[in-house]
Amino acid sequence: MKFAESYGVPLADISRESFFNIGGSHGFMRWGIYIFVFIAFFYLAYTIVKRVLIWRKGKGELRTDFPEKRILAVIKYVIFQAKILKESYAGIMHAAIFFGFAALFVVTLIIMAQDDFFELFFHNHFIKGNFYLVWSLVGDLAGMVVFIGLIMASYRRYITKPTRLDTKPIDTFALALIFIITVTGFTSEAMRIAISNFPAWEVWSPFGYALAVPLSFFSEGSLRVMHQLSWWIHFLGAFIFIGLVGSDKLGHIMISSLNVYYGNLDNETPAAKYALNVIDPAIFEVAETFGVSKVEEYTWKQLMDSDACTRCGRCQDNCPAWLTEKPLSPKKLVNDIQDNMDERIPALMLADDPSTVESTPLINETLQHGSVMPDEFWSCTNCAACMEACPVNIEHVQKMIDMRRYKVLMEGDMAPELQTTFTNLENNFNPYGFAFAERGAWLPADLGVKTLAEDPDVDYLYFVGSAASYDKRNQKVATAFLKILQKAGVKVGILGAEEADSGDAAMRGGNEYLFHALVTQNLENFKAYGVKKIICTCPHDYNVIKKEYKKFAAMGKNAEGGPLEHNVEVFHHTQIISDLITGGAIKLVNPLNETVTYHDSCFLGRYNEIYDAPRHILRAIPGVKYVEMSRHHDTSFCCGAGGARMFLEEHLGTRVNQFRTKDAQSTGATRICTACPFCMTMLSDGITELDIQNMQNFDIAEYVFNAMEK
Ligand code: SF4
Ligand code: SF4
Repeated sequence: MKFAESYGVPLADISRESFFNIGGSHGFMRWGIYIFVFIAFFYLAYTIVKRVLIWRKGKGELRTDFPEKRILAVIKYVIFQAKILKESYAGIMHAAIFFGFAALFVVTLIIMAQDDFFELFFHNHFIKGNFYLVWSLVGDLAGMVVFIGLIMASYRRYITKPTRLDTKPIDTFALALIFIITVTGFTSEAMRIAISNFPAWEVWSPFGYALAVPLSFFSEGSLRVMHQLSWWIHFLGAFIFIGLVGSDKLGHIMISSLNVYYGNLDNETPAAKYALNVIDPAIFEVAETFGVSKVEEYTWKQLMDSDACTRCGRCQDNCPAWLTEKPLSPKKLVNDIQDNMDERIPALMLADDPSTVESTPLINETLQHGSVMPDEFWSCTNCAACMEACPVNIEHVQKMIDMRRYKVLMEGDMAPELQTTFTNLENNFNPYGFAFAERGAWLPADLGVKTLAEDPDVDYLYFVGSAASYDKRNQKVATAFLKILQKAGVKVGILGAEEADSGDAAMRGGNEYLFHALVTQNLENFKAYGVKKIICTCPHDYNVIKKEYKKFAAMGKNAEGGPLEHNVEVFHHTQIISDLITGGAIKLVNPLNETVTYHDSCFLGRYNEIYDAPRHILRAIPGVKYVEMSRHHDTSFCCGAGGARMFLEEHLGTRVNQFRTKDAQSTGATRICTACPFCMTMLSDGITELDIQNMQNFDIAEYVFNAMEK
């Protein structure tokens, strides 16, 4: 391939005629094209306006602040495909189609700028010479990249058929449309080259040129007819594509990008990632309904979420509920909300009296298209694997929490064991029903740790949490942790009987009212004792105190009606221990000659991105052979206890804890390491239930205590 100057012809000749063999770029053809452009964009505008009107039927929600951060999110997730590329095959496939099409879009914009502006008004045909050569090459390569992506997509959808993909006619139509546009782009180009007797510079369109060679066996007359046919199919296909970019399958191109732009910026930082909405306590005084039982009770952004779903199934593939045969699929959930919205909201908009509109109920006891069964949203462990995987940042968990809130706060309809949990939390501030006065009784006297009432002058408050306060196994973890701190000279205190449960289970179980009572009590104690730094051994406590407490403090009131404060820095014990090891305050000298695997707690990992500290600790223990489970870090698999599931019986499907224990077993590890009291219980139960003889489970603090120089 040579540059334009080397072909020995005037540079102006190294170009191509617009509307070659079609009828020229002036007169009828130009205006004919403008009519098609108008129809395509009119339909596109119609579909977008219709979707916007539907979304606006949802409740208000602030998602327009910090536009610069939102643009960065679009660059990260849409342009750089941050989540899509986490999967190799699907990522490469999607990137090929996306980037190839983006390049073709730019190539098309350039020729439109020439034909419909510069040439029209200034007789300036600027796509010529070397610019033409590069423009041709980019267009040709981009077309081939799209073609390869389409082959990969077709192979996956119709040959390998992963279970997470459900193929509807619209999927086949969308794929076929892009396929036709791409192929006819090449055939039109190849026929033009063949009809033009293979100009030497057209090798800059290598694929079109190669395809032109076999086509040259046709007569020129036949080629001209075939070229016109190919060109028109290409042209009409492109405008059908533009018209459909705002709706159904192809709509994800536009709506997904919008969804990312209006996404939850909290999720971009571990300081607030995946925090739930907290109901303003003032609303409890006046609101007539809580939670969501009708689709219009979602916010406009939650409605947009359901339209943005591409049905890629990544959420479902990572969902512990789905993978253990529960009725919950996060993909189905989002699609059912969309179906319900599409049926109900247009009817609401047309009705004179919205209260008379009858439609498929959003929450339905029986399986029905467009409805969500309570067993679905109660199966959710709030593990956030779905949200972490979703390439368009759909927020599944809040939608299910909203339904739980409706069930609990409006209907008092929940599993009996959850009702008991709430009663225990109300009466004794712990979910187990033990006396609240005994909350600090576990504390060994020889540790020298006091309550803040006895001595508020401490480096940290150790927020013990309900599990370590009352559960014997987790009391050992708390004791080991305090001994580590004692050795390192870190002074901590506890709240003892003044500590209330963090409220995580109440909040995620849908009992927002109870959550408010618990958080108020704890925040008031933090303030009363001037607490500035808190350590938690429970990731659920760590997460809720760090995030939802902060939200609540901004709007809640104390018992006297005064403002609440959240002036605390919250740490998880893995962070503290890791720092103590790094700083040399504790020395790990006793070897542990075992193969150890670490289980990432959802509320430590995905919610707070604390992945390195626990691994740093384990690798610092002499003798440890560390192995990683197949699902780890942000793709870690839930133990089954999150989202208040710790306090709910698991009647449906197989047990999540056993699924995860088998993950650990398959590594060949003899030890599991957990850093969460719920994970401790669930995986220890898993070992017992599966009768695995050569495996034990310990908290990271216990490993460190055993290994450290005493
Ligand atoms: S949060 Fe976890 S359990 Fe719930 S839907 Fe998402 S992946 Fe499934
Ligand atoms: S919710 Fe997200 S991850 Fe799940 S199918 Fe839809 S786009 Fe894919």
